[in-house]
Amino acid sequence: MAFIRATGKHRAPSRLTRKSAKAAGIAALATTGVLGATASPALAADSEAAAATGTGLTQTVALDTTLAAQIDAQAEAQQHQADVAAKAKAEAKARAEAKAEAKRKAEARAAEAREEKARAARAAERARLNSFHLPVAGSHVTTGYQSGGALWSSGSHSGVDFQAASGSSVVAVGAGTVVEAGWGGAYGNNIVLRMNDGTYTQYGHLSSIGVSVGQSVGSGEQIGLSGSTGNSTGPHLHFEARTTPEYGSDMDPVAYLRAHGVQV
Ligand SMILES: [Zn+2]
Repeated sequence: MAFIRATGKHRAPSRLTRKSAKAAGIAALATTGVLGATASPALAADSEAAAATGTGLTQTVALDTTLAAQIDAQAEAQQHQADVAAKAKAEAKARAEAKAEAKRKAEARAAEAREEKARAARAAERARLNSFHLPVAGSHVTTGYQSGGALWSSGSHSGVDFQAASGSSVVAVGAGTVVEAGWGGAYGNNIVLRMNDGTYTQYGHLSSIGVSVGQSVGSGEQIGLSGSTGNSTGPHLHFEARTTPEYGSDMDPVAYLRAHGVQV
């Protein structure tokens, strides 16, 4: 059949022209992003070329969607990891702060305990230094103050005698300074201390002197050993309390010791 084009009759567009127009339309839709994942079967059937183009675009869009989802998921995972890490960090910081606070409190308690112990030690030391002692521990008076007898040049005992076997430890009754240490005539080897309260104490008939003039002595500190040197009938300690370092300024040694809290 001959292909005759009728003149004067409205000419329909050729099939090729229609195909091209539809393909262009699909391309235009794809460009604007309106094309969905499901391409119209009518469009695909209308033109193989258009269908091929449409399918390709659909795949590209589908791939883009998957990639976007993956990126979203990755971003979400990263955010989650960051949140977990931040939470762990905050918890670790809180734990570290709690530990540091506990350590500070423990140190404060320890410091307080040390200070309390030091205060107690200072108080005990003050009490020890301020307290008075018997010149011979555990001893007792054998001859009282001002008792009469031929033995004493003044006719009266200027101190008291404490029972003490030879070599017994003789201690300072209180804290003071040595003002005399040596031979004292009738007193034999004797020591005189100026006490911190301004009074004086004297220790006679010693077998041994353990201190020297100018030396500071603590209360209860050994200053010599008892004996029977000088005008003595046997081992004992002659003890005097005085208002001055000199013989004759004596006062009642028992009252003196008792006034300083010593039981005698
Ligand atoms: Zn005596």
